[in-house]
Amino acid sequence: MLFSFAFLRFKTLNITHKIVLAVAKKLTTKNLTQEIKEIALRKGFKAIGITTPKILRDLPYGWVADVTELKRPEEVLPQVKSVIILALHAWDRAFFLQIASPEWKGYSFHKQDEEIEGYYISYEISKNKAWPIVTLLREKGYRAILTTAIPMKTAAVKAGLGCQGKCTLLVNSEIGPRLSLMGILTSVELETSEPYTKDLCYDCEICIKACPTKALTPYQIEINRCLAYASENPALTSIPEDVRTIEEKIVVRPTSNSCVECSICMQACPIGQT
Ligand code: SF4
Ligand code: SF4
Repeated sequence: MLFSFAFLRFKTLNITHKIVLAVAKKLTTKNLTQEIKEIALRKGFKAIGITTPKILRDLPYGWVADVTELKRPEEVLPQVKSVIILALHAWDRAFFLQIASPEWKGYSFHKQDEEIEGYYISYEISKNKAWPIVTLLREKGYRAILTTAIPMKTAAVKAGLGCQGKCTLLVNSEIGPRLSLMGILTSVELETSEPYTKDLCYDCEICIKACPTKALTPYQIEINRCLAYASENPALTSIPEDVRTIEEKIVVRPTSNSCVECSICMQACPIGQT
């Protein structure tokens, strides 16, 4: 009788200990998630969402035209438990400035492991602003890395940042598609956001009509007709001649190695215009 009472007491204590640990873990998760969100907003990101590799498991991986290297989060960071997606408001066309290496000819023209120096200004700004979050996570003993190697737009939808609009870009209810996405993969479990399920486009087709090369149909893009893709792939022969002619007229080239990519569809979108 004495033994069973002691055993019962031990069992109760054990269960209480587990409950206390679970509550403490939940509290840590909640506090850390909150801290990350506060840093993101303080650093100037317009929106932040969090999802998991499990939720992203069934996304289409592979990819758009010559961009075939998009990876699953686990391929980038094997210990990943949370995927943080950040949206930078790209309020000026200059956010889409690219400075390419003189050697850059386009995605399909270089070996996969070839390092070619090049800068996309909105990514450089985002990396800079996201770095304090990476540092915080590392200081707390977790793995954390910046990435754009996963399918960013579909991940952003799962992280609750917006819908993938008829222009095929991520459309956020406050800033429309004028944004740039950055991801952080981390080994800590964070509170996840609800996936975005609304379609913000309804019967609008403004971006489709605004596209100078007719590259868009609702929710689809004919990538070889997109000027942004054309200007990133100067040596690609699959770009039609009429697109190259329009590219010469529309794409701004401040220097021989830089260009401000076409963003006409983004600029035309009425969502989030002030
Ligand atoms: S970036 Fe320019 S060319 Fe490409 S879909 Fe948008 S408007 Fe059309
Ligand atoms: S312009 Fe209209 S159709 Fe295109 S993304 Fe914006 S809301 Fe959607």
